[in-house]
Amino acid sequence: MAAKRMGSTQMAMVVGRTIYLHGVSRQRFLEDTGWIRHEVCHVYQYRQYGILRFLWLYWREYRRHGYYQNAFEVAARAAERDPEVLRNIDFAPKV
Ligand SMILES: [Zn+2]
Repeated sequence: MAAKRMGSTQMAMVVGRTIYLHGVSRQRFLEDTGWIRHEVCHVYQYRQYGILRFLWLYWREYRRHGYYQNAFEVAARAAERDPEVLRNIDFAPKV
């Protein structure tokens, strides 16, 4: 959910269908297709379970398996190599 890239200073966190960036520009993020796929996979996870239920399930996975083996992160990492993830995805214009 909060994926760290290139050290701990660049990260993205998804809440619902919004990807929040920290320490990385929108442009830089949008140039990293694998990273986009990863975070969009989390958007789908939110959509599947609803925000509160997903946060609860994610937390439970995190407590049991940690970050890396968390099933939601395993799925998101697999999505990084799957072009289908971004089919039907549009990014809102910059505000
Ligand atoms: Zn993630």
